[in-house]
Amino acid sequence: MIAMVTKTEVKSTFSAVQLPRQVIQRLEDFSNTEFSKKKGLTNKTQVARAACLEFLEKYAVENDTTRFVLPSLEDDELRIDVHIFNDRVVCNRCITDKEKCKHVEALYKDKEVKSHLKKSKIILPKR
Ligand SMILES: [Zn+2]
Repeated sequence: MIAMVTKTEVKSTFSAVQLPRQVIQRLEDFSNTEFSKKKGLTNKTQVARAACLEFLEKYAVENDTTRFVLPSLEDDELRIDVHIFNDRVVCNRCITDKEKCKHVEALYKDKEVKSHLKKSKIILPKR
């Protein structure tokens, strides 16, 4: 049996947002870069969606979320800035692999970092 679904029967879960033409053009330009293509973002809609999600992840954090910042005296690359949710830890510094980067790894493995977490009475989610 073949089920036919007409376009009007499919309820869309999308709605439109208006943006200035200049922003649309920048999204379009970005989607044509090698970086964007490597990320799998091949058109302006995909770039806009990824950008919105990343922004929300960074700034619209849940109330029961803890932000943990630990400066590194030797190397700024090792400075930790994460949001700790009930079920996951998200790095605020890394663009990709935000839950599996060296900063998140340090929370679970580095003795010094773990002692700072303990002092701050922060309990990491199990993984
Ligand atoms: Zn990171």
